[in-house]
Amino acid sequence: MSIEINRNVLIVGGGISGLTAQFELEKKGISSLLIESENEIGGKIKTVKKSLSKGDLVVELGPDSFVPNKDTFELLDSLNLKSDLIKSNKLKTGILKEGKIKDLPNGFYFMLPTAAIPFLTTSLVSWRGKLRAGLELFQEKRRDNTDESIAQFVRRRFGDEMLQRLVKPLVKGIFGADGECQSVNATLPQFPAMEKKYGSLLRGMLRSQKRSSPGFLSFKEGMNQVTKSLYQRNRDNILLGTSLINLTRDSLGGFKAKLTNNQSLKVNNVIFATPPRITAKYLDGLSSEASDLLSSFKQKKTRLFYYAYPIRGKIPDHTGLLFDRDLGINSLSFSSLKFQKRAPEDMLLVRASCSAEGSEMQIEELIRKLSGVSMGAIWNDKSESTMPLYEVGHRDRIKRLYSLLPQDIFLCGNAYEGASVPDCISLARRVVGSIMQDLK
Ligand SMILES: Cc1cc2nc3c(=O)[nH]c(=O)nc-3n(C[C@H](O)[C@H](O)[C@H](O)COP(=O)(O)OP(=O)(O)OC[C@H]3O[C@@H](n4cnc5c(N)ncnc54)[C@H](O)[C@@H]3O)c2cc1C
Repeated sequence: MSIEINRNVLIVGGGISGLTAQFELEKKGISSLLIESENEIGGKIKTVKKSLSKGDLVVELGPDSFVPNKDTFELLDSLNLKSDLIKSNKLKTGILKEGKIKDLPNGFYFMLPTAAIPFLTTSLVSWRGKLRAGLELFQEKRRDNTDESIAQFVRRRFGDEMLQRLVKPLVKGIFGADGECQSVNATLPQFPAMEKKYGSLLRGMLRSQKRSSPGFLSFKEGMNQVTKSLYQRNRDNILLGTSLINLTRDSLGGFKAKLTNNQSLKVNNVIFATPPRITAKYLDGLSSEASDLLSSFKQKKTRLFYYAYPIRGKIPDHTGLLFDRDLGINSLSFSSLKFQKRAPEDMLLVRASCSAEGSEMQIEELIRKLSGVSMGAIWNDKSESTMPLYEVGHRDRIKRLYSLLPQDIFLCGNAYEGASVPDCISLARRVVGSIMQDLK
């Protein structure tokens, strides 16, 4: 028998985006129901504990840390989670170049060498490459506001060598993306903005006041502490293992949502916090143009491999490694060196994020060599995930998408205005702000 319930807002998707949106709505006294198709809450944020005889492994199957923004701090404050934050150990990233691991210069921020000495002394870039990068100060400012790829932007400002040696490995390691296709305006908007304001990024860096970054943070128990806490706050209004069958307009201009648990729901607004292709399916009958556009959004599949090795003697010098050519691995993270209490004292927990190609055996061999371990893994696992690709022109596509949406349908999630956990939190809060405006 179908049961009918009434709520103001239906939220589809229980990752950090949907959960944050629901928390903000409830805080403002707006009734909501969140449905999540999996039996577990959190979406990409997934922490698992593995008990070994020597102690526990805390393994992150999704994000392992975040650099908080104001919205994130405010959310964590409301959830009383600030005292559970932990800071990463001092990060030292290496880049594998011609079989040798070299340090990423200290203070190198995506494409900006914020500290002169480490950049001038790195052997990752030749003197010619460094000189070309320094000439950024004198490169003419681009007047055209159209989007470019990260590669086009860096090549134009700093030269090809810095792009190939430092920026591309970073973009691949962090976003799982190819710098030649990834939009600079959508992914790293602060840099085109600096060019526009100061005419040069180096000049902008010298003129602007340095703000200290809080660095990379996580939670004592792992990243899912935040999603678990959000779930606890609103669990009476969350249905796990429940999906949307369809969404139709009712005679009063609201929506009727049919759910897979045989319930139906009357709502005034819907927030889709699901991947674009899933959202596209539900929007087909309501705005076919928005649905078509959402279907064209691209995602990239990432394979993740996890290994726990016994340590005998030396531990790796770096907390993470990046790669200057395609060996099938985008990045390698020594999770137990990055944060404390992720593995027993005498074990090394490693996570490799890999592109779709490359045989598992070859990857494991390379990981063992790079980790410098002498014994085989005593535990291993693997998983798959996806990340959105922000191709050149992404912001224009988003603007158009928003203009095509019915005014009572809202989108949040990592596919639109930033893919990091803090970006998702910020967008969810903005979406709730828009709903509140409409309710006034
Ligand atoms: C491997 C990996 C590493 C990352 N590392 C970092 C990092 O270190 N730092 C950082 O800041 N960010 C990182 N990110 C990015 C960040 O984790 C994600 O962008 C963010 O968690 C996405 O949250 P979301 O809520 O937008 O989407 P999701 O977490 O994907 O949530 C969408 C939810 O919708 C549900 N759903 C799908 N279809 C339906 C349906 N029909 N009905 C109901 N529910 C449905 C899904 O099950 C899912 O739970 C990483 C991402 C990945 C994949």
